[in-house]
Order: sequence, then C-alpha cells, then structure tokens
Amino acid sequence: MDLGHCVVCGKQGKTPDNFICSDCGDPLETTLFCRNCHKRLTLNPGTARAFLAENGYDFEDVRGVILKVDHCGDCMADDSVVDMDVYRLRFGR
Ligand SMILES: [Zn+2]
Ligand SMILES: [Zn+2]
Repeated sequence: MDLGHCVVCGKQGKTPDNFICSDCGDPLETTLFCRNCHKRLTLNPGTARAFLAENGYDFEDVRGVILKVDHCGDCMADDSVVDMDVYRLRFGR
C-alpha cells in the first residue's frame, strides 16, 4: 500500500490519503513553506492577503492558507521569479 504524504513538505503519513501535516498548516495562521530551504514562516494576515492578491488569489479569510514557494526571501536569487502553490486547510468536514 502506498502511503500518503504531506502535500506541502512531503512527510509521509500513516494512511493512503495525502494530507497537510500539522507542521505545515495552522488553521489560525497563514504559513509560508519554502521548497528550497524547507523553512516555514508565519505570515501576518495583511501581508498574506496582499501577496496572494498580487498573484491572483483572492481570499477573504487567509487563516489556514499555506503558500508553498520555490524560494523564500532568504534563499532567493536576485533574478528568480517566485513560483507558488496555494493550499488551504479544510474546515468543518
Ligand atoms: Zn508537512
Ligand atoms: Zn528559502
């Protein structure tokens, strides 16, 4: 049986389903995960909303949103373009 993994950091889980692990997703915060240096940052809601809007995502509520980027501010080269995937924790299932 193939086990699922965290879609953000790739950590393997115990069930076949993919998931977002508790390190990567916080239902009350916006988390940024860097694919290159594996750093996680918590963004404040204003920053997160502005950054999402710049990239064409319009969220009224940014809590529980995870931004997965190729490079964060710390490891970005001057000429690199940020490639971003957006995930969101699901509530109230
Ligand atoms: Zn994870
Ligand atoms: Zn980084």
